[in-house]
Amino acid sequence: MIDPCSLDTNPLLSLQEALTRIKAALHPVAGSEKVTLKSALGRVLAQPVYSSVNIPHERNASMDGYALAAGDITPNQPFSLHLTGTSWAGRPFQGQLQSGQCIRIFTGAVLPERADTVVMQEHVRADGQTIHFPAQTRPYQNVREIGEDLQQGACLISSPKKLAAADLGLLASAGVYEITVKRRLNIAFFSTGDELASIGQALESGKIYDSNRYILNGLLADPGYNMADKGVIADDRDKLEESLIEAAKNYDVIITTGGASVGEADFVKDVLASCGQINFWKVAMKPGKPLAFGKIGDCYFFGLPGNPVAVIATFDQLVKPALKQLAGEPFTKPLRLTAICTSSLKKAPGRQEFQRGILAQNDAGELLVASSGKQGSHLLGSISRANCYIILPADCTGIEAGEQVIVEPLSLFV
Ligand code: AMP
Ligand code: MG
Repeated sequence: MIDPCSLDTNPLLSLQEALTRIKAALHPVAGSEKVTLKSALGRVLAQPVYSSVNIPHERNASMDGYALAAGDITPNQPFSLHLTGTSWAGRPFQGQLQSGQCIRIFTGAVLPERADTVVMQEHVRADGQTIHFPAQTRPYQNVREIGEDLQQGACLISSPKKLAAADLGLLASAGVYEITVKRRLNIAFFSTGDELASIGQALESGKIYDSNRYILNGLLADPGYNMADKGVIADDRDKLEESLIEAAKNYDVIITTGGASVGEADFVKDVLASCGQINFWKVAMKPGKPLAFGKIGDCYFFGLPGNPVAVIATFDQLVKPALKQLAGEPFTKPLRLTAICTSSLKKAPGRQEFQRGILAQNDAGELLVASSGKQGSHLLGSISRANCYIILPADCTGIEAGEQVIVEPLSLFV
């Protein structure tokens, strides 16, 4: 697609084409490290983990009740056994279970040798040391067998996998103490622009506060990333080039915001061309058309737009999948749903749009989405109120209230 508003013939890539180019250009970082389970949350497992034990380790009860040997059941008739002791969770019965005997047992407690059946306490009648069992007592019920969840030697978790709380629990259940995870991605980010003031300073005329570094600080908060906030670079070609060349020596990825379009003070594309290689620099998405992707030495470079909402949208749609690939995470498609749009939405044909919406479910269970308000890419309030993108295809010319649209929930954290 050629951008009709541009004098040059640099193709305006569709988002899909841009993603395909990024995917082809990236090589996941090599290198791994050992971490203890306590510091493994959110890290990417680099090697599969096998269990060195059976889970459960010993045969145990899945109910509170009475444990007995199936051979002591009288088929199809009530029968009685002599109560000879108790097995508690963590404090097994120490004696021998003889024929004609049963023991009291609690959930999770180990069954003694010979015992292979647990009868629920609600189904028996206790009369002193004599326990009466009903007819039709089924053998082998309410027992967790050795290795029922997982056999010794079986794969606990295959790699790669970004470890969640449940994974840590699973590894802990097998007594795993240390695992091998991919090394962290080293990511540097800069804001660019003479107009930027840091929060804490008074705002002089012509200045605005730098929101983008706070946005990136939030978007990059991930246990798999080491991020470095490298501050603001003035609109100065040489300073920009110097800063990027220096950062490229020490980081896997550089992200800049601002200076990516074609204004007099927009140097990002030119600097990338002179000190590295540009892969592309325009994507047919709104917000977010000026977006430079390339490499400086071995370091990947993303030059995002300056407007804060465009920073978030381009990060979510392009940078985040790229970082996941670099970090060695398995590929996951973003969750997209169909909802009924309760607002009318304006749209000019040409670019795929990521408007900001508020998604909710009505009492009938239908998904409804409303616009979160004015859609300018400088209006952070409209994305702060939103909980989803409303994704409108490039050729769409607007939406009437009541039409179906595609939505993508915003990931609030990480
Ligand atoms: P630029 O691409 O540099 O022309 O920036 C586009 C718009 O985004 C301008 O209005 C900038 O002032 C604004 N902008 C750029 N960087 C930031 C930032 N770090 N925080 C807030 N707004 C920014
Ligand atoms: Mg600028």
